[in-house]
Amino acid sequence: MRTQVAIIGAGPSGLLLGQLLHKAGIDNIVIERQTGEYVLGRIRAGILEQITTDLLREAGVGQRLDAEGTVHHSIELVFAGTRHAIDVHGLTGGSVVTAYGQTEMTRDLMEARSAANLPTIYEAANVEVLDYDSNNPRVRYQKDGQTHEIACDFIAGCDGFHGVCRASVPKGAITEFEKVYPFGWLGVLADVPPVSPHAIVYANSERGFALCSMRSLTRSRYYVQCPLDDKVEDWSDQRFWDELRLRLDPEMASRVITGPTIEKSIAPLRSFVAEPMRFGRMFLAGDAAHIVPPTGAKGLNLAASDVKYLSGAFIEYYRDKTSAGIDSYSERCLRRVWKAERFSWWLTTLMHRFPDTAGFGQKIQEAELDYVVNSEAMSRSLAENYVGLPLNFGER
Ligand SMILES: Cc1cc2nc3c(=O)[nH]c(=O)nc-3n(C[C@H](O)[C@H](O)[C@H](O)COP(=O)(O)OP(=O)(O)OC[C@H]3O[C@@H](n4cnc5c(N)ncnc54)[C@H](O)[C@@H]3O)c2cc1C
Repeated sequence: MRTQVAIIGAGPSGLLLGQLLHKAGIDNIVIERQTGEYVLGRIRAGILEQITTDLLREAGVGQRLDAEGTVHHSIELVFAGTRHAIDVHGLTGGSVVTAYGQTEMTRDLMEARSAANLPTIYEAANVEVLDYDSNNPRVRYQKDGQTHEIACDFIAGCDGFHGVCRASVPKGAITEFEKVYPFGWLGVLADVPPVSPHAIVYANSERGFALCSMRSLTRSRYYVQCPLDDKVEDWSDQRFWDELRLRLDPEMASRVITGPTIEKSIAPLRSFVAEPMRFGRMFLAGDAAHIVPPTGAKGLNLAASDVKYLSGAFIEYYRDKTSAGIDSYSERCLRRVWKAERFSWWLTTLMHRFPDTAGFGQKIQEAELDYVVNSEAMSRSLAENYVGLPLNFGER
């Protein structure tokens, strides 16, 4: 088999890249180790920046997003028992974010891919990326007991944090930066109307952080900070709802509608960046290259902006016969990635209870939050990072 771009991973990065390349007439094959159903079953992100929604429309999959996504004009910060709105739309000259589940976005991309008859190999075992430092890269994998090989011009490593692409790079050729946080997030999904249908709520409390988010007007996604060694079984639905209410301001707490949860999981929080993001003819994109704590809702959006740069670079290569985009890919991505890493780290640090933030630390967080909501400069800084910095931010 031969293709122009072999894409490893059928998560949001891989599927979006495949769709954009297809629109530009560039052949691609997606190779995924799981089944499609398994990929769709993973409950993850849900807040899309304007850059991401624009890209989905460009890829021809914006229809359901436009019909079912919920636009948010503001965010709400709760601290010291009171709630404050940040007018994100007003402070950024009209930018918004859209609540639309990662699973829905993935489903739209999968359906577009199968409608266009584009090749996707699910359940590919033992995937290997070979000779990517030569002009003839190859991908080898096993399926149904047979070994297969795909020859290609380029390999796109869209295979997430635990994927094979980054792991295949020799240690001396890559530098990894990591920060692990001393707590996790317990997240639940429930078919109840969101307590705040037009804004995400971020709550700082002495009991720890809480977040009220949504997937639709009838499906809510809520989180509470929890110890890393807690088990999901420790958290009955009732315990979760009680704890969530205790971390919100009293008025909002009284409006939380509860119901049986349909998903409950605990995720660790981590900041991680691998540099560079290009190795010869192999390029990393999305979680394969970087992880952010979910506080800033940046993970999926960074994956989308990597894909924007990478698809543009491949299109330039084939259409205009120039390697300029390919050569600057890693540098452009990393400039943006580190801004999002900084923002996610800042918001995480500001909102969570750390082992050493009792007393003095709590008061400092509340003072900073008071400054954020009362200083237009601070509110604007939060708002412009939240909606996503422009793609060419800082470029000359
Ligand atoms: C529990 C959880 C909650 C999250 N919540 C949020 C949130 O609220 N907001 C936010 O912005 N972000 C969130 N994120 C991050 C967001 O979901 C990711 O940034 C996003 O999924 C990145 O997409 P991706 O395609 O780069 O990687 P992935 O979605 O990880 O996709 C990678 C794909 O590659 C496949 N793969 C892996 N290894 C191989 C291999 N060897 N061969 C072939 N295929 C392989 C995987 O099966 C997977 O389908 C969350 C992540 C997790 C894990």
